Amino acid sequence: MKIKLHTQILIAVIAGIIAGYLLGPKAEHIKFLGDIFIRLLKMIIIPLIMASMVTGIVSIGSGKNLGRISLRTALYYFVTTVLAVTVGLILVNLIKPGVGFPALADQSAAADHIPPSTTSLLYDIIPSNFVAAMANDKVLSVIFFSLLLGFAITSVGEKGKSVAALFDAFNEIMLKITDWVMRLTPIGVFSLVAYTIGTTGIDAVKQLGLYMLTVIAGLLIHSCVTLPLLLSVFGKYSPIKFIEHMYSAVAMAFSTASSAATLPLTIGCLENEVGVSKKITSFVLPLGATINMDGTALYEAVAAMFIAQAYGIPMTLPHQILIVVTATLASVGAAAIPGAGLITLAIVLKAVGLPLEGIAMLLAVDRILDMLRTAVNVWGDSCGTVIIAKMEGENLTDKVEA
Ligand code: ASP
Repeated sequence: MKIKLHTQILIAVIAGIIAGYLLGPKAEHIKFLGDIFIRLLKMIIIPLIMASMVTGIVSIGSGKNLGRISLRTALYYFVTTVLAVTVGLILVNLIKPGVGFPALADQSAAADHIPPSTTSLLYDIIPSNFVAAMANDKVLSVIFFSLLLGFAITSVGEKGKSVAALFDAFNEIMLKITDWVMRLTPIGVFSLVAYTIGTTGIDAVKQLGLYMLTVIAGLLIHSCVTLPLLLSVFGKYSPIKFIEHMYSAVAMAFSTASSAATLPLTIGCLENEVGVSKKITSFVLPLGATINMDGTALYEAVAAMFIAQAYGIPMTLPHQILIVVTATLASVGAAAIPGAGLITLAIVLKAVGLPLEGIAMLLAVDRILDMLRTAVNVWGDSCGTVIIAKMEGENLTDKVEA
């Protein structure tokens, strides 16, 4: 009997947790399987983003349609991120996980966490050399160039048709490779989960338990209440049915802690199972994976407040509003790779004048929280894709049976 990929992934997550628990730090030895899997995923991200974005823009067609879709997408990203940060802030003010926590005086651990500056973020979008941008995994640059390319292909009319067809075929081919890589998901998931569980010491979890609990409670409220509500009201789609379809992508996000590495699967689930058109997925998802990170923004707000509480630094309302603004921006700037949120957290801390060395306190449990926030990030992108597809008048028909 053939076990479905969904079920295989679920088994892999559970087996990974058990193996990690039993093996402890020895789980390090099976990490290479997960690393190979992530390398394979990374290998396909850039060509896949390029092919799917160019095809997407060409199929959206006129600038007017694209303008409307972009506006809706941006609005969704912004509103959901701010909602997520607000939930995080309310919880951290109620639970106060940092009060009474022994603060660090060690500056050394913070030195590695230099946040990117605003200009360097801007430079990241506009590449001076497109090939170098591709080679260095500059996803935002690749998106920017692909958008231009898509526009240009549409605007040259007849002459652009052959290039459009080429990209369309290339896109199909990339999806085929993705499909092959996906079959290895259970092995990768097993190894990565076992490694994290095995190497995160139980002491760290005990010490930072209340902080973790606050982040997790916030992520749960956002993913189980806020987003499903938006999905039902604006997307007219049953959240239960939706998680059944999206389950593999969310589990993959959880185990890889990378929205970018999950992207091929997110696209696959939404197109092949939910039935969203390529036109929408190819625009909303690569962009969402890169800049829409509800889980990361929520986590950064809680982490910043936790540090403030641990150091006994009072955060007034204006400070907290500044946290909402900067955590939203920092989540946009965070790369869709493991641990990125921890680095852009420095932007938030700097903005409100909190000590950067506070980051060192959070390192021990960051990977587990990273896995959880990445799952929420991908879930947020997916809900948004359905909402925007519905607003664009798409009739979503379940494709699973087919
Ligand atoms: N790992 C997250 C992601 O890929 C970003 C983060 O570190 O919060 O979505």
